Amino acid sequence: MGSRLAGRTAIVTGAAQGIGRRIAEELGTEGADVIVADIDAAAAADTADEFESSGITATAVECDVSSMADAERLVERTVEEFGSLDILVNNAGISRGERFQDITPEEWQQVMDVNLNGVYNCSVQAAPEMAEADGGRILNISSIAGQNISYEGPANYTASKWGVIGLTKHMAWDLAEYGIRVNALCPGGTLTPLIEELTTPEERSETREKIPLDRWAEPEDHADAALFLVSDRSSYITGTTLTVDGGLTLGIRHEV
Ligand code: NAD
Repeated sequence: MGSRLAGRTAIVTGAAQGIGRRIAEELGTEGADVIVADIDAAAAADTADEFESSGITATAVECDVSSMADAERLVERTVEEFGSLDILVNNAGISRGERFQDITPEEWQQVMDVNLNGVYNCSVQAAPEMAEADGGRILNISSIAGQNISYEGPANYTASKWGVIGLTKHMAWDLAEYGIRVNALCPGGTLTPLIEELTTPEERSETREKIPLDRWAEPEDHADAALFLVSDRSSYITGTTLTVDGGLTLGIRHEV
């Protein structure tokens, strides 16, 4: 166990599995009290139990980030239980739909509600608590889809992830005076249940061959980057995006 986040309280949304779970574990291992917030209450409870059994202080909270009422309850519960809120990682995200011309209005709305409005809902509830405590850190999980397009997901996913980067920058500008730093992390393709749902093993193998570092990302690659962006090691960094993609956005790897 480390101590870089000792005494801090961190909410991670979508933390029951995948990238969010690994980020929450990393923050907890560095001493933060962790709120495992997820729409899947049973999975969140299991994750929090597993964290507790490895010595991390963790509480599961059922929360649909697309609901402002849930976001409000999430922040209230965190402050009630731990006395403060220092770190918010907006990680919850979904993908719905296929080609642009086939995306239904419902799919469009669902993805915007979770991926973009969810970041707004949780952040707007968290910021006043952080401001009162003289500062905080918000980390938004965008994607390399927010820098170009999604190769696995649809256009609504791409648009939502561009939105997250724009929102990150503007929040960083507006919240700097309260000592709140806001940054975005842009993962490249990462082996999680989300990607397993969206791709076949053959497609995953083809993608891997194009990645300069010759492998898919693992959730721990993002946990390391997230720890940096929410710790004091990045105390002069706000409004930026950190790309963690094995070089994929440099271009396609060619055999030589
Ligand atoms: P995942 O599907 O494995 O896990 C997502 C978690 O979010 C699940 O536990 C799910 O229950 C929860 N969730 C879904 N809707 C929610 C809601 N409305 N409220 C609260 N929780 C909700 O996904 P992942 O691959 O770990 O992705 C995590 C984040 O990283 C997402 O924002 C995703 O867009 C982003 N991302 C993933 C990849 C990738 O390749 N896996 C690449 C770039 C960005």
